[in-house]
Amino acid sequence: MIIKPRQPSLELLQLEALEPRFPLKHLNYLYFTKDIGMARSGYRGEESINYYLQTIARSKSDFLFHHLRLPAEGSYFQIDTLIVTPSYLLIIEIKNLGGSSLTFNGQTNQVKQTFPDGRVEMRDDPLLQARRQRRKLQLFLKNIHFPPVPIEYLAVLSNKNPEITFSPDYQEKDRVIRSTHLDFSVLELDAKYPNPILLPHEIHYLNEQLLHFHTELRVDIFKKYELTRKDIITGVRCSNCGTSIMKRRKRSWFCFTCHYASNHTSLIVDTLRDYSLLVSPKISHQEFRWFFNIESSQLASALLKRLNLPREGTGRGMRYLLSELVDREGWVGSTLHKS
Ligand SMILES: [Zn+2]
Repeated sequence: MIIKPRQPSLELLQLEALEPRFPLKHLNYLYFTKDIGMARSGYRGEESINYYLQTIARSKSDFLFHHLRLPAEGSYFQIDTLIVTPSYLLIIEIKNLGGSSLTFNGQTNQVKQTFPDGRVEMRDDPLLQARRQRRKLQLFLKNIHFPPVPIEYLAVLSNKNPEITFSPDYQEKDRVIRSTHLDFSVLELDAKYPNPILLPHEIHYLNEQLLHFHTELRVDIFKKYELTRKDIITGVRCSNCGTSIMKRRKRSWFCFTCHYASNHTSLIVDTLRDYSLLVSPKISHQEFRWFFNIESSQLASALLKRLNLPREGTGRGMRYLLSELVDREGWVGSTLHKS
C-alpha cells in the first residue's frame, strides 16, 4: 500500500519556478542549471523504479513511503523510498547515474562515473549514504520510542546504460542493484525475515509518525544563488507561449511576443504560486506590485480583492496568505503539466 506517493519535492518545485525567472547573465546561472538538471534527473530516476514496486504497492501488509525527510541529531535526513513490512524496514537510495561505466571503489567510498566522451566525474557512494540513513533512522525510531526492528538498505541504480564494476575490496556489493532487480531483492529480503515482529498497531503508529515528522526542505534561493530581489525576472508569465512576461493593459494581460491576451485569474494564481515558492507564502500589497510589475496601487488592490485571500496584520504590516490558494496539490499538478 502506498502511504506517501511520489511527488516532486518542494525543492524541485522551487527550482522549476525559478528557471524562467533566473537572469541568464548572472554569475551563478550555470551552477543553477546544473542543480535543476540533477534534481530533474533524480526525480525521473525515482519515478522509474515505481514499476518494480507494484507488488508492494498492492500488498495490504507492506507500506511504501516515497521521499521522506525526517529529523535526527539536530538536522534532517532524506530517504528516497522506505518500505515498512511487519518483519523489517527497507531503505532504498535511488541514483540515476548515466554514462558508460560506474566503478565502485571500496577504499575511497566513491563512484567513478565515466562518460562516452572520456569525461570522468567522482560521486559519493550511494551505499554509504544508505548506511548513514539507516543509522539516522535507528535514532529516529529510538526518539519515537519504537521497538528495535531490522533495517535493510539497498542502493538502486535506475539508469540502465552504464556498465557497473566494483573494486576487489568492495563490501556488500549485493546491496548495489539495478532497478530491474529490485523486486527480486525484496523477495530475497522477505525470505531472510520470514517472521513478523511488528504488530498491526505498531505499524500503524510508525506510519503515522513518519508522516507527522516528514518536513519538506525549503531552499532560500536568494541566498543559495546569491540573487537579490532586483535580479530575478518578475511579472506574469504568458500561459500561451510560456516564456514572455505579459504586460497589464486596461482590462487584461497582454503578451507582446505571441499577442495572447487574457484576464483569467489563473494567470495571477500561477504568478502567486511562483512568488510563494521563491519568496514567501505571505505577500504584502507592495510586494504584490513588485512581483507583478504593477505601478498602480488601485489596480493591485483590485486584483488582490478579486482573489479574496485570507489576511493577517493591519496597515503597512498587512500580508495576504497564499498557502490556501496555491496548495500543494495545485503546485504538483501544474508542474507535471509543464514538464
Ligand atoms: Zn506569449
